[in-house]
Amino acid sequence: RTVYLNGEYMPEGEAKVSIFDRGFLMADGVYEVTSVLDGKLIDFEGHAVRLERSLKELDMASPISMDDLLEVHRELVRLNDINEGMIYLQITRGAPDDRDFVFPDPAKVPSTIVLFTQNKPGLADNPVVKKGIKVISIPDERWGRRDIKTVQLLYPSMGKMMAKAAGADDAWLVEDGKVTEGTSNNAYIVKGGKIITRELSNDILHGITRKAVLRFAKEAQMVVEERSFSIEEAQGADEAFITSASTFVMPVVEIDGAKLGDGTPGPVAARLREIYLEESRKAAV
Ligand code: PMP
Repeated sequence: RTVYLNGEYMPEGEAKVSIFDRGFLMADGVYEVTSVLDGKLIDFEGHAVRLERSLKELDMASPISMDDLLEVHRELVRLNDINEGMIYLQITRGAPDDRDFVFPDPAKVPSTIVLFTQNKPGLADNPVVKKGIKVISIPDERWGRRDIKTVQLLYPSMGKMMAKAAGADDAWLVEDGKVTEGTSNNAYIVKGGKIITRELSNDILHGITRKAVLRFAKEAQMVVEERSFSIEEAQGADEAFITSASTFVMPVVEIDGAKLGDGTPGPVAARLREIYLEESRKAAV
């Protein structure tokens, strides 16, 4: 693979980052994942806008303009010949001379920026969509600023391991009796045709796919209710699904061992997936 590190394209084996990098020592960094379909970027602008917000919230300077960032994404797609897949982008607060909790002076310590591609042929035609996924619920033990897309992904990783150990595919996180979101996706239920998903706040990541899917749902005259829901309510729903840049819209068929309806993917998730893929392909850059 050809990757991008601090202004240069190079083979992945040659891309080296300091052991003092604050991303490595302190998870002091942010990231984005943009999907690629037909060799084009899905909702690049949404990801760029969220990236700028994440950087601002952490008082981190952007090392690159958003126009140049788009060019780097496109160049990596071209160099690695990606038709379907993802582009991972990470910006950390750079590598000072020594380990220190205090932020380094950004004029002296430039941030570190890395991008690489992940080739995933069949990303859109994912066979898992036909079966749907099973989720378990676990307590949400993450920090309080989940609206910032930081590289602190230890608890989400642990959640995926807990799901795997329980024979499930993923976990939904629960706080104060209500689902916040999935380990790496936003969570939805459907009841009586109504699409229900938690409202935006610092408690969840403001999914780029979530924003697009809710817009397409409203345009298709579907009813959307932004509010939190419990695992019990979800288990009694007609259907459920998750959204993220890499799964698009993925049906959920079982929650903590309870099958939703007849245990097969529902029509609302299928319709939303179809609209999402069609519309975002049309708008891809
Ligand atoms: N919530 C969390 C915790 C996530 O990690 C992600 C994906 N990174 C999402 C939601 C979905 O966001 P997006 O649609 O922008 O991929």
